[in-house]
Amino acid sequence: FSRVEAGRLEARYCETNIAKHTLELVSNFESMAKSFGLNFIIDIPNHQEFERKLKQKVFLDLDLYEKIVFNLCSNAFKYTWRGSVTVRLYTDIKELKEVVVFEVEDTGVGISPEHLSNLFQRFYRIESHQARSHEGTGIGLALVKELATRHGGDIEVESHVDVGSKFKIWMPTGYDHLPLKNVIIESSGDMHDGIGDNREKHLYSSLDLYLDESKHWIQDEPKFNDISIQQNITLADEQTAIKSLQSLNLSSPITDSITSTSRTSPFLSEKCTDSDKSALILIVDDNTDMRNYLSNVLKTEFKVQCATDGRDALGIIQNKKIHPDLVLSGMY
Ligand code: ADP
Repeated sequence: FSRVEAGRLEARYCETNIAKHTLELVSNFESMAKSFGLNFIIDIPNHQEFERKLKQKVFLDLDLYEKIVFNLCSNAFKYTWRGSVTVRLYTDIKELKEVVVFEVEDTGVGISPEHLSNLFQRFYRIESHQARSHEGTGIGLALVKELATRHGGDIEVESHVDVGSKFKIWMPTGYDHLPLKNVIIESSGDMHDGIGDNREKHLYSSLDLYLDESKHWIQDEPKFNDISIQQNITLADEQTAIKSLQSLNLSSPITDSITSTSRTSPFLSEKCTDSDKSALILIVDDNTDMRNYLSNVLKTEFKVQCATDGRDALGIIQNKKIHPDLVLSGMY
């Protein structure tokens, strides 16, 4: 999001064989479906026929589209305990224009009507004991919406509690709706058709991130009957987060103690001493996204170890005989 907002996320829209590419992306979830005992239905037409039927070619930023697909599929598996997850790709007409629709439907826990209008707001989460994991940041769907908009499209949702949810993103075909300077037209007529493309990676690998997170769900999977059905809303917008940090009055100790030459993060100050590079930080947080994020930011300047909770942290300290200089821990 910060890259999108700072205008630093330069999308590159390439002519793409969307059916072939989508099939490659969603296939990554087959083993997850198997381990959860869910039926995974991939309803994607033959890519040659799909291409023939399109009135105009589809232009995608492969990296951004990958994030859309992985976010929606990953959510479907996170909130579905039995039944199926179905992915579909088809064409439709919106405002008299041809669009391609990528749809993910699940037979999961569903979302009650009062939450639907806020679902695409940043940091909006519905704390549910019915999810496979309580990890989350509430930015996944907001990001998907932003990325669909970047393709001239949008996202829609239909959902019913205890029945399931259907998320649809649609994008117009052709490139009239895209900023022309970011549209790449291959002179050779070559079309991009998969994740094997030798393209520059704009962000971290989504595949590793999403599949890695789901491994924890498999380990931690509780029994469905034990789950109490309880939903609370947590709406932590940026202002609230900033206010809470300010109220802790931590700004001076943080900038004094964390010193770095890193220009990658706005959180680190410019000062640096050589001794910092041998300092060891132990990150303790149960949220995989947060651990990965902090570790990526800090590892350029410090040695970093990660633990999922206090017990894990103590185990690592004892087993690896390490002496962290700083323990960075999320507390609730
Ligand atoms: P996160 O998963 O990090 O909480 P998201 O933006 O991806 O954030 O989702 C926001 C909220 O929408 C989630 O907290 C969850 O309650 C709900 N949600 C998203 N996808 C589904 C789904 N397929 N089924 C049920 N609820 C969902």
